[in-house]
Amino acid sequence: MRALVYKGERQVAVEQVPDARIEAPTDVLVRITATNICGSDLHMYEGRTSVEEGKILGHENLGQVIEVGSAVVRIKVGDWVCLPFNIACGFCRNCERGLTGFCLTVNPGMAGGAYGYAEMGPYNGGQAELLRVPFGDFNCLRLPEDAQERQDDYVMLADIFPTGYHATELARVSPGDSVAIFGAGPVGLMAAYSASLRGAAQILLVDHQRDRLRLAEKIGAVPVDANEGDPVERIMELTGGRGADKGCDCVGWQAHDPSGDEHPDMVINNVVRSVRATGTIGVVGVYVPSDPHSPDELGRQGRVAFDLGTFFQKGLTMGSGQANVKAYNRQLRDLIHAGRAEPSFLVSHHVGLDDAPDAYRHFDHRDEGWTKVVLHP
Ligand code: NAD
Ligand code: ZN
Repeated sequence: MRALVYKGERQVAVEQVPDARIEAPTDVLVRITATNICGSDLHMYEGRTSVEEGKILGHENLGQVIEVGSAVVRIKVGDWVCLPFNIACGFCRNCERGLTGFCLTVNPGMAGGAYGYAEMGPYNGGQAELLRVPFGDFNCLRLPEDAQERQDDYVMLADIFPTGYHATELARVSPGDSVAIFGAGPVGLMAAYSASLRGAAQILLVDHQRDRLRLAEKIGAVPVDANEGDPVERIMELTGGRGADKGCDCVGWQAHDPSGDEHPDMVINNVVRSVRATGTIGVVGVYVPSDPHSPDELGRQGRVAFDLGTFFQKGLTMGSGQANVKAYNRQLRDLIHAGRAEPSFLVSHHVGLDDAPDAYRHFDHRDEGWTKVVLHP
């Protein structure tokens, strides 16, 4: 089969690789028809992880089931399914509590598995013609009869829609709240969209990229352009000097701030400054783990200068981590099916696998208008 593989820093290529196949009786094999490029792929693309050369990338996958293992009872050949990016067993002590982003079975020692990702188990991704889905009965979200026509909406259930929702869940966004969200990438836009679904009264979305801020405005958020001065001061102005009730970090670790400053820790500290005393913060932007055995830049990157003093003084609460996609994706699927959510509003490009390396380049450069790329293998 053909697949997009990691070759080295800022290098990916489409290659002929052995077909994905059923390896365990609980596996399901899916022909992928839609698979997104994600901001999380950029951590690997930009060389910030230990991902190995030859790994097939892609963790936001949707397609049709073409084969099931002998122990699969629920999922059938022909089903249209979306695959939560977390690979989970369904029976470990974390999965039993719905914390499928931290499955203890599929990636022992690290906790949490994913397709096509560094440090999240030996699983290949779905930017390919075929994908093997472990524990298929648990890890396939079956889609309704409009799946094929509405792939752009349903494919967002693999990651960014539940992840944006998770940011607002960690931040405990409630009706009437004001919410400050940093990062208007796909994840931040989905967090803003989710805050709106949860009844937030005021949604403030911060970024430097004007094309993304225009999308923010379209979904009813107030754009805060970080090119025009300190975004925290602007948030204070817009919230009567109190700060927002809730805050979300949808940026994560950055080598440097796009303004040119070397401030990898700036975003989380800006969220802390933006939230009112006793508020709650959700962090879904990824902070790549530190490696205690490598003192170089790659090893140190998870350690940021967090402003614990301000956090403590304000009595804030914070939640973080990979989204437990399965905790939300049925409900969000049903909102899409009912016509009450259309997360495809952020799709900017559809491309075939051959053009994927070029699409990675544009998305990584944050070229104007490249918000979300859907690949069609
Ligand atoms: P993205 O890189 O497209 O978007 C990030 C946005 O943040 C960009 O628009 C950028 O201009 C903006 N930004 C950068 N520095 C900023 C700053 N100082 N202030 C305000 N905005 C700033 O990526 P994305 O797909 O939206 O993903 C965002 C983050 O979420 C990434 O770290 C990704 O790995 C992570 N993520 C986490 C999960 C999870 O389960 N926790 C799932 C998916 C993605
Ligand atoms: Zn993703």
